Amino acid sequence: MLKYLLLAVVIIWLFYSPALRGKRQGPTPPPPKPSQDRAENMVQCAHCGVHLPEGEALKDGHGQPYCSTAHRQAGPRQA
Ligand SMILES: [Zn+2]
Repeated sequence: MLKYLLLAVVIIWLFYSPALRGKRQGPTPPPPKPSQDRAENMVQCAHCGVHLPEGEALKDGHGQPYCSTAHRQAGPRQA
C-alpha cells in the first residue's frame, strides 16, 4: 500500500515538475533589442517631399527638414 502511495507521489511530482519547468524555460521570444543599423527616423523634405534620414536633413529656422541647401533656401513648397 505504501508502495502505491509512493508511486502516486512520484507520478504527481513528475506531472507537475515538467509543467513548472515548462513555465520557466518556455519558448519565450527574445526581447526586442534596438539594433544599431535600424533605419533612422525618416523625414520629408518640406520643398520636394523626398524622404531622407533625419540625420541628413537640413533644418531651417522653423525646424522644417530639407534635402538640400537649395531646397532649404527655396523654402517650403506650400507657403
Ligand atoms: Zn527637397
